Amino acid sequence: MERISRREMLKGIGTAALGAGAWLTLRTSVGASPTPARKRVLRIAHLTDIHLAPEGPSTQGFIRCLQFVHEMKDPVDVIFNGGDSVADVFGQNAERAQSLFNHWRKVLKENCKLPVEHCVGNHDVWGWNKERSGCTGNEPNYGKKWALELFELETPYRSFDRAGWHFIVLDCTFPQGNGYTARLDDEQFEWLKADLQKAGNKPTFVLSHQPILSASAYFDGENEKTGNWVVPGAWMCIDARRVVELFYQHKNVKVCISGHIHLYDRVDYNGVTYLCNGAVSGGWWGGNYHQTPPGIGIIDLYNDGSFESQYLRYDR
Ligand SMILES: [Zn+2]
Repeated sequence: MERISRREMLKGIGTAALGAGAWLTLRTSVGASPTPARKRVLRIAHLTDIHLAPEGPSTQGFIRCLQFVHEMKDPVDVIFNGGDSVADVFGQNAERAQSLFNHWRKVLKENCKLPVEHCVGNHDVWGWNKERSGCTGNEPNYGKKWALELFELETPYRSFDRAGWHFIVLDCTFPQGNGYTARLDDEQFEWLKADLQKAGNKPTFVLSHQPILSASAYFDGENEKTGNWVVPGAWMCIDARRVVELFYQHKNVKVCISGHIHLYDRVDYNGVTYLCNGAVSGGWWGGNYHQTPPGIGIIDLYNDGSFESQYLRYDR
C-alpha cells in the first residue's frame, strides 16, 4: 500500500465518502443532461496496461486487481481490457512470447469470472521489432495474429451494441520501421466512418489502447526539453485531427477511453470526454507513475446517454 499524498487527497474530491480504494473520482455527464429518472444500464471496469509476466510482482498485483473488481459491492458487468496485457512481445523471441501467452491465459482463467472485451496494445503485437525478436515476419502468428489468438478475437478492431449503447474497439498500433506509430490505418478509418453512420443516434463509446486525445501525453517523458512541447506519434494518435473531426459530425459519440500513457487524465473536447485511465501496473509495477497510482477505471453508463467515471486504486 502506498501513502496518498495530501495533494492527491485534495484532488480526490469526496474520496473519504467513497470508501477505501478511491483515489480520484470524476462524476461526469456529457451530451444530454442527466434526466432524474435515468437508469444505469452497464457498469464497466476498465483495466489497462497490465504488463503481466511470470516473474516479478505483476502476477500477484493483477490477481489482487481482479479480486477487487469481482468483490465490488456495486457489481461490475463487464471488464474492458485496454491492452498492453503482457509485459511485452513486441521485441521478444518465440519462446518468451509463448511463455507470456500461457501465463496470461492461466492467470485470467483462474481469476476472472466476468466477461472481458479485449483491445490490442502495442506490447501485445509479436515481433515487429525484428532486430530484437529475431522474427522474419513469416511466422504463422506474427504481429497482431498473436494478440488475436491470445484474446480469441477475429479482427483487431470491431464494434458491437449492448445495453442501448454502441461500442467501438479500435486498433491504433501502426507499423513504422522496427517500431510503431499510433494511428488508424486508412481502411480502419473508412470502416469507422461507416460504423458511426450505422450507429445512428445510439450513445457511442470508444475503446482504444493509445489515446486519441490526452493531456498526460505531455508528461510521459521530458517532452519540453527542446524548448517546445513535443508529443511523439507513438504516444497519442497522430491522426487525432481527422478522428476528432469525424466525432464532431456524430454528436452521439460520448466517451473515449484509453491507457498506454500510464497516467490518469480527462479531456473534454467538442462534447466528447477522453479518459486516459492510468494503468493497472502503475509505474510498470514499481509504484506510482508520476502522480498516478496503479488503478482501474469504473465507468457507469446510463440509458439517457450520460455516464459517470472514477479512477480507483485497488491495492488496499
Ligand atoms: Zn502501450
